[in-house]
Amino acid sequence: MTNNGHAWTPGMCWLYCRRTGIPVIWLGPATTEGIHAPMYGCAHCVAELEHMIRQHFIARNGPRASGNPGERQGTSE
Ligand SMILES: [Zn+2]
Repeated sequence: MTNNGHAWTPGMCWLYCRRTGIPVIWLGPATTEGIHAPMYGCAHCVAELEHMIRQHFIARNGPRASGNPGERQGTSE
């Protein structure tokens, strides 16, 4: 299973559950105080994060802008 060309690999979830030894996927670089690190998340937490991103998008653009297929990212099979 891949998402945006990145594969699921066993590792630690950097998001909400903090579990280890589970399939996680690279989400992107995280930056804090000038330090960069690769951020990984499990399927469950990535779904939670995607929900938050959608809420953020709706809050910024209004409900009518949600569901615009041209704006969706990270939903490829
Ligand atoms: Zn998780």
